[in-house]
Amino acid sequence: MTGILYLVATPIGNLEDITLRALRILKEVNLIACEDTRQTIKLLNHFLIEKPTISYHEHNEQGRTEQLINSLLEGKSIALVSDAGTPIISDPGLILVKKAIDRKIPVIALPGASALLPALITSGLESSEFTFIGFLPARSGERRKKLLEIKPLPFTIICYESPYRILESLSDAKDILGTRQAIIARELTKLYEETLRGTLAELLEQVKSKPLKGELVLVIEGQNLDSQETELVNTIQQAVKDRMEKDNLDQMSALKAVAKALGISKSEAYRRLQLELKDY
Ligand code: SAM
Repeated sequence: MTGILYLVATPIGNLEDITLRALRILKEVNLIACEDTRQTIKLLNHFLIEKPTISYHEHNEQGRTEQLINSLLEGKSIALVSDAGTPIISDPGLILVKKAIDRKIPVIALPGASALLPALITSGLESSEFTFIGFLPARSGERRKKLLEIKPLPFTIICYESPYRILESLSDAKDILGTRQAIIARELTKLYEETLRGTLAELLEQVKSKPLKGELVLVIEGQNLDSQETELVNTIQQAVKDRMEKDNLDQMSALKAVAKALGISKSEAYRRLQLELKDY
């Protein structure tokens, strides 16, 4: 009999958010693999749990995985926890889970705290469909590339963010995503929990006037399909006008040329502009 690998969510601030099942499993397993043993020991002490711990973090996960898999194959059960929240969500553990699946070791997740869902549901933004992108890249070039990639998505976007980069990220997001509603959820479940709301530009001004400390999640409205449509119609209209003036084309020929340049069919361009053929 192999052991079971439990993926155990732990609180993101407020210790009352631990689940009864997490407490039971942490007491029952043979070993707890922790992102930072010192951090997890504080949690275990609080709940009077005495259990051997072993470190499992981004710098040793490759080597440590084999050791943990061997223990599981010997029949020992292991709980994987991160410093806070749900393991694997912007935290280590995926390599271990993949290896456990390969070796037919049962993997069981214990649901619990994570920062992304409380931030999403307090945002007041569309929550039935959303895109979680983890941390935005630290370098501006890569960050802007990522923002361009997610720009057309019609879903609410959730990003983890550091207080040291929030100004730059908001500034890039405002430039690339334009006018969108957003929130910053700060210190969720903790004493100084707060939610800042506004457009990206308004949030940028708020953060400039009062720098933020602590842990942050940025939630941004997805691309509004109506505004996307309006943008496309404006682009077609302007391009048709330019072609007529610059190339001295009649309206029909200009529309054909613009449709070709935009990679859409002529009928699609007509439809977008809601033009009647008789206008030509
Ligand atoms: N695994 C964790 C989870 O399930 O949410 C996320 C770990 S990731 C390394 C840490 C980031 O999560 C922080 O930089 C912040 O963006 C977000 N975060 C974690 N706890 C938070 C809290 N209490 N309030 C706001 N954001 C938090």
